[in-house]
Amino acid sequence: MLDIQIILDRLEKVRKSGKGYMACCPVHEDRSPSMGIEEKDNKILCHCFGCGAKGIEIVAALNLPPDVLFHDPLERIEDKHHQLNKKSDWDDFMLMMASDTLKQGKLLRHKDYKEVKQSLARREQRRLFGLPILSNMEIVL
Ligand SMILES: [Zn+2]
Repeated sequence: MLDIQIILDRLEKVRKSGKGYMACCPVHEDRSPSMGIEEKDNKILCHCFGCGAKGIEIVAALNLPPDVLFHDPLERIEDKHHQLNKKSDWDDFMLMMASDTLKQGKLLRHKDYKEVKQSLARREQRRLFGLPILSNMEIVL
């Protein structure tokens, strides 16, 4: 059973952002929230825009097992060749949290900037194909 609260309880300076939260990253020395976290369709997505830490590194830093992130163990295997639909949760999450990071006046790491650009491109393709995309959310990049 997934419970994002178990993770949120261990994080500092947690605040709402979009459908998820921003918080201080437990992997690096983080004084103002750089890490986005959101629960979506039986998985918990998280990414740090400060140090680039992914979910598994983040929960490990909190002394939690990777199971707290995934309902389905298959989700643990990162598939680099997701189809548009499969990756849309991740793209929406990255765009929302990158937008939050930039609004705070922080810069994106080069690797994150490239990933966000790819997310934007996939989002545009999805829109052209009439697939569901983030709506009613302001994304400033
Ligand atoms: Zn970090």
